[in-house]
Amino acid sequence: MSTRKLGINTICSHVGEIKDEQFKGAVSPIYMSTSYQFEDVEVKRYPRYFNTPNQEFLSKKIAALEHAESAMIFGSGMAAVSTTFLAFLKAGDHLVIQNPLYGGTSNFVREELPKYGIEFTFTDGYKVSDFEKAIQPNTKLIHIETPSNPLLTITDIRAVAELAKSKQIVTSIDNTFASPVVQKPIDLGIDIVIHSATKYLGGHSDILAGAVATSQEHIHTIWNVGKNLGGSLSDFMVWMLERSMKTLALRVKAQNRNAKKLAKFLHNHPDVKHVYYPGLKDHPEHELAKSQMKDYGAMMSFEFNKNIDASKFLKALQLIKPSMSLAGVESTMLLPALTSHALLSQEERDRLGISHSLIRFSLGIESKKDIINDLEQAIKRVK
Ligand SMILES: *Cc1c(COP(=O)(O)O)cnc(C)c1O
Repeated sequence: MSTRKLGINTICSHVGEIKDEQFKGAVSPIYMSTSYQFEDVEVKRYPRYFNTPNQEFLSKKIAALEHAESAMIFGSGMAAVSTTFLAFLKAGDHLVIQNPLYGGTSNFVREELPKYGIEFTFTDGYKVSDFEKAIQPNTKLIHIETPSNPLLTITDIRAVAELAKSKQIVTSIDNTFASPVVQKPIDLGIDIVIHSATKYLGGHSDILAGAVATSQEHIHTIWNVGKNLGGSLSDFMVWMLERSMKTLALRVKAQNRNAKKLAKFLHNHPDVKHVYYPGLKDHPEHELAKSQMKDYGAMMSFEFNKNIDASKFLKALQLIKPSMSLAGVESTMLLPALTSHALLSQEERDRLGISHSLIRFSLGIESKKDIINDLEQAIKRVK
């Protein structure tokens, strides 16, 4: 059965199920074995080889969602990022990597790649010309992130993919913020899609995992390095992730709906200075977002006017949780300057536009009126 023709909720709920032939149970059994009978040299199942039944089958769901030939599941988003980078870069090679970028990826590049003799350039910005400027004769990989954290900038996926193809450079994207429900980068020409499955794929703030989706050929390259680095995910957690992903599209669509409404609410609020959300018409890349995303995701950032202190506001919330992570079914907020981007220098934060009053907002699935009521009561209390 070609998964291309299936609706997204059918892919989420059914593709990659393991049929319980023995007891005819409704859900995939868990195979916890770390030891499998030796069949022949070709088929050696072992959890670190990313090929136990649960790993192999859930990979099919992730590949189907991303319109990829194949996928691999990792122990964390960073295991997926680091394994992919080390699979395509060796001593003397050069990486072009987007700025703004997730802090963990940025730290990995700055702290680890020099030890391997791998060169890199962070772009000055997220425009195609910024990528073009950064390319060198030894550039082997271009990595982008869109929408970006925390200001929700939008990179032109098609244009960067085209630029890279014209120079035979492999491209990867961190698709965590969008999820495959909102954005399918492979359809736009990107080679490799990376996820922190800790976020939307898991969706309940209780699974640490990562994933990569790409061609069979690239998966082979990543697998060869992955088995050496050892960043696979345990079968129990793979099973948990399968269970969570059955509701991925339902959750994300509900979260997107809330985000659109809350972005408008905040945009029209007299105490709010600015809202960063690609679904708003005043977002500088609104049209671009429309052309490459299905809906606009459920992440946004905003700033209050000077009359409201952002830290006090977060403490006054009763329903929305001030929380480090994102993308769960519960709405969360944080101050990037004090958390996710605390390791950057003040200068760097100023350059990126991440002020101390910037609040990142991850929309959950709660009823819209309860989210709004919580915002209103918190604003009233701190004003
Ligand atoms: C969280 C996150 C990661 C890292 O994922 P982990 O699962 O925490 O290792 C990578 N990229 C983005 C955009 C993230 O939000």
